[in-house]
Amino acid sequence: MSHTVEILSVGTELLLGSIANTDAQMLSQGLSELGLNVYWHTVVGDNPGRAREAVALAKSRADIIITTGGLGPTCDDLTKNVLAEAFGKELVFHEPSAQRIRSYFERTKRPMPESNMQQAMLPEGCTVLENDWGTAPGCAFEADGVHVIMLPGPPSECRPMFHYRAKPYLQSLSEGVIASHTLKLFGIGESSMEEQLRQQMNEMSNPTLAPYAKEGECELRVTAKADNDEEAQKLLKPTVEQIKTLFGNKVYGVDVKSLEQVVQTLLEEKGMTIGVAESITGGLLAKRLTDLPGVSKVFKGGIVSYTNEVKQAVLGVPEELLNRCGAVSAPVAQAMAEGARRVLGVDIALSATGVAGPDKDDRGNEVGTAFVAIATPEGSYVRELHLGNRPMRERLRTQTAHHAFDLARRYLSGLSYEH
Ligand code: ATP
Ligand code: MG
Repeated sequence: MSHTVEILSVGTELLLGSIANTDAQMLSQGLSELGLNVYWHTVVGDNPGRAREAVALAKSRADIIITTGGLGPTCDDLTKNVLAEAFGKELVFHEPSAQRIRSYFERTKRPMPESNMQQAMLPEGCTVLENDWGTAPGCAFEADGVHVIMLPGPPSECRPMFHYRAKPYLQSLSEGVIASHTLKLFGIGESSMEEQLRQQMNEMSNPTLAPYAKEGECELRVTAKADNDEEAQKLLKPTVEQIKTLFGNKVYGVDVKSLEQVVQTLLEEKGMTIGVAESITGGLLAKRLTDLPGVSKVFKGGIVSYTNEVKQAVLGVPEELLNRCGAVSAPVAQAMAEGARRVLGVDIALSATGVAGPDKDDRGNEVGTAFVAIATPEGSYVRELHLGNRPMRERLRTQTAHHAFDLARRYLSGLSYEH
């Protein structure tokens, strides 16, 4: 039998929009990796009547209910009472939990409000999920054919409680394993990707294929269920290969984090170094590179040359070129990359210049016009971009940076720059 899960998040602040239900998102990710089917996310406020209704509904349709929140010591923390009542259980005092709560307060050198002892009241016969990250213990029990797991609300507690306490409990309930691979694509829109895969996606059941669009990039996640990992991998392989063939070098990696991570790996393999010269991206290229652990082996440095003076004085972009073509132009992008390559003493250099808006530049270039360039030992290449004129500086920067890294990835993989 395959299990169906309902995540029931309790908390009025979720309904008021004060916070987003990140616990449910985190749990859903973790649960699908376990091969459990999450069918419902429910949110209910700190109201006993409506909470009772929500629990009754969950009990009627799911065979695993996972609650978040409402385990605290205050009177609006009602999760345990409502769940215990729905499953005909008493709340009983659990001395070891009381002890843990007392010592938590001693360790953090705070006086313990008496109400905290509420948290040691747990449904009779439950498995106590010890909370090493806060005071409220979680709990799990099975009754009326339904598994119930209760986790605390604060994400800093909910996450570890799920991974270290609930997961081992759930693993014993899920049959087989679930494995997945994520293909990353750049240079194709989500709708065009989906169009090419739609029929196939509808026909597939194991493995399944799920597309995602993310800040100008696309992801395809292939997921298979099987008795063991080896079998799952056998199911995944042909689909992964087929997608790679279909989208060719638009697929920049499988199970990789980002374009820049691929660039880092390729640079390491070739023993080469990189540097950057940035105008529109304002340091984003350098930031994204320095987010990667161990990147100092390949990344030497970058220059944020935002004004023409700096482009000229530091990168050696000729004044005549700036006057004739303007800062947002292919020749200037190329001169910036070549200048950075020389000044920084690197094997390859990337540059980016463009109009981030909100207005056109003084030469009439539209917002979203940008040029990214790469300078290499074999010569330079410039890509012209028209990223749309919606004035969203952040988005334009992100996409410009993607394109710059794409040039590096293509050069280092021996691919054509055309995409
Ligand atoms: P506490 O002991 O802190 O009272 P609790 O288990 O009773 O914990 P709540 O009182 O429901 O949990 O929530 C405590 C805090 O945790 C909330 O103010 C909120 O910041 C955060 N939180 C609660 N539920 C969620 C959720 N589903 N997603 C993200 N954050 C949440
Ligand atoms: Mg609370």
